Amino acid sequence: MAARILQGNNLAAEIRAEVAAEVKAMAAAGVRPGLAVVLAGRNPASEVYVRGKVKSSDEVGIYSEKHTLPDTVTSAELLALVEDLNHRDEIDGILVQLPLPPQVDAKKVLLAVDPAKDVDGFHPMNVGYLSTQRPGLVPCTPAGVMEILKRSGVPIAGQEAVVVGRSDIVGKPVAMLLLNGNATVTVCHSKTHDLPAVCRRADILVAAIGRPGMITRDFVKPGATVIDVGINKVTERADFDRFFAGNKKREETFLSRGSTLVGDVHPEVAEVAGAITPVPGGVGPLTIALLMANTVKAAKLRRGARVEAMTGT
Ligand code: NAP
Repeated sequence: MAARILQGNNLAAEIRAEVAAEVKAMAAAGVRPGLAVVLAGRNPASEVYVRGKVKSSDEVGIYSEKHTLPDTVTSAELLALVEDLNHRDEIDGILVQLPLPPQVDAKKVLLAVDPAKDVDGFHPMNVGYLSTQRPGLVPCTPAGVMEILKRSGVPIAGQEAVVVGRSDIVGKPVAMLLLNGNATVTVCHSKTHDLPAVCRRADILVAAIGRPGMITRDFVKPGATVIDVGINKVTERADFDRFFAGNKKREETFLSRGSTLVGDVHPEVAEVAGAITPVPGGVGPLTIALLMANTVKAAKLRRGARVEAMTGT
């Protein structure tokens, strides 16, 4: 039987509507959450992401500002900007878009962001809060993965979860969130032995690898829920045929644009999985929605009792 398709677009719209309602309640009490997005250097993909973040902020009523810095920016200049944003009361969230130009010490810049305004959830303080189950800011894509599972009614507690990938941005925080949700979690990486056998144990399989279509049907227990975080561009005809042979709609996109997207999970997995996220339109849309949710959460955590007293939330 074909897998249930877990559509991220619908869930993201649901979350945005919830955030907009919260922003409205806060506005009535005189508080407007604010997000500052920092873009350094010229990177077409980053420019698209930043545009999406600013647009989404406008839609839900969050104040946003974009700081564009040249390719030649230095660590000191970026640190000065972050420091200024840290001190501005109307800014609740600071997002430094990665990657930064090579001459910039990215770790130092991310460490300089006030943990209370770290809406990406990358600061070691927030990583610590997550691993010790304290209120803090959780990275957006991993939080999006959890929202898909919860809002789709996929049980987590007591389930076997396997996460392939151990990056600080996706794999590790997803694993921690699943563990906090009482799943039994295994984290795999490039040195894992017999990866297909380990993955076949999973009731919930999360792929965050960055390798097009690597997870094939032999990695998946029939009926498992498969969350595909990967976003990979396919430009070669041979690769297209390997993933999408016979898929007319995809072929139209591929021929008109010269490329299409594939996740880390091979599309054939939809024939064995119980539920699966599509690429595009699965985890991707949740990331920006969760950034909006994180900005409101940061405003509430930072302004604390002040917001609670004003909005009754
Ligand atoms: P990353 O930092 O490159 O990490 C990849 C992980 O996969 C590493 O832990 C690596 O293992 C592991 N890996 C690589 N090859 C493997 C193999 N053959 N077998 C087993 N494990 C292997 O990537 P990332 O930043 O986590 O991103 C992962 C994917 O998610 C990418 O496609 C990225 O574009 C996508 N992504 C999507 C969103 C979204 O909004 N949907 C957000 C962020 C990222 P080692 O640690 O041993 O090297």
